[in-house]
Amino acid sequence: QAEDGIRDRSPSRGLGDVYKRQIIDGKKISEDILNEIHLKVQERANQGLKIPHLAAILVGDDGPSETYVNSKIKACEKVGFSSSLFNYDKNISEEKLIHEIELINNNDDIDGFIVQLPLPSSINQNNILNSVNPNKDVDGFHPINYGKMTLGANSFIPATPYGILQLFQRYKIDLEGKKCLVIGRSQIVGRPISILLSQSNEFCNATVTLAHSRTIDLARHTLNSDVIISAIGKPEFLKAEMVKEGAIIVDVGISRVKDSSSKKGYRIVGDVDFKNVSKKASYITPVPGGVGPMTIAMLLSNTLEACKKND
Ligand code: NAP
Repeated sequence: QAEDGIRDRSPSRGLGDVYKRQIIDGKKISEDILNEIHLKVQERANQGLKIPHLAAILVGDDGPSETYVNSKIKACEKVGFSSSLFNYDKNISEEKLIHEIELINNNDDIDGFIVQLPLPSSINQNNILNSVNPNKDVDGFHPINYGKMTLGANSFIPATPYGILQLFQRYKIDLEGKKCLVIGRSQIVGRPISILLSQSNEFCNATVTLAHSRTIDLARHTLNSDVIISAIGKPEFLKAEMVKEGAIIVDVGISRVKDSSSKKGYRIVGDVDFKNVSKKASYITPVPGGVGPMTIAMLLSNTLEACKKND
């Protein structure tokens, strides 16, 4: 059976080379999710209900941030959402930015909004995230939503970890009892996914270890893990000799590396040496086309939920 997940070919069963090696197609799954959202938007329109509206705040002119925000706006158009982009000068004061956020908090037409990170160093990121109305916090970074997520209560789950959960669910990869190593402890990816995978939810129930730059002998941990989720931003850091046969690999990293053969002069690579690790993994996400597109799809899913709460 091709679609029955790892339960029947669990690495811990010592099945060695019999795993069906599978590349997890995040692009396809994200398109499925966007199509599902599109249908729901059409249904809402037919019923005379409000069309979801996502807004994005972008401060400064950081190239990658502009690219990410533009892809989010483009995805809104694809599913039939309304969208707004608020672009501020990099020298905007923290007070002024909080004032602008208050205006969006009070704008009934906007269901959800995000503040694209990172912010200029002159602005305190936590003060900004704390000023977002938790009901519109579709990134799930406000302490109220983060706390609810930690408690396993209904909340907006940050989009990247939410996307990873969806990949496991849609590929029917059940992590129950598996040894899962998360590398990277950021507030937006590593820490939340480590919390979510340890919870007593369908496809989760993993035994989770959270590694970071102070972890001693990381290779000992990686070699001992059934599942590795890497979110560190170091190009091709995870090598085949660090991974056990049949492991499930999720690569969150996005790095630009110089490539004179490419038109742009660079190419995008993940944290994982895909060419070699994919020969050992039972499942693996590529970069690009793995976790990245899922992040946008789940942001839109959260925005639809925010809109539905106002019905
Ligand atoms: P981050 O804030 O950049 O932090 C990196 C984390 O990796 C830190 O916890 C750091 O440990 C850890 N780390 C760095 N070098 C390490 C090493 N050699 N061994 C073990 N741990 C190490 O993390 P982030 O914002 O989550 O970003 C990580 C990567 O994911 C980046 O490439 C980013 O572009 C990408 N990303 C992708 C998506 C997506 O949609 N696919 C979304 C968000 C981020 P310390 O805490 O000890 O410093």
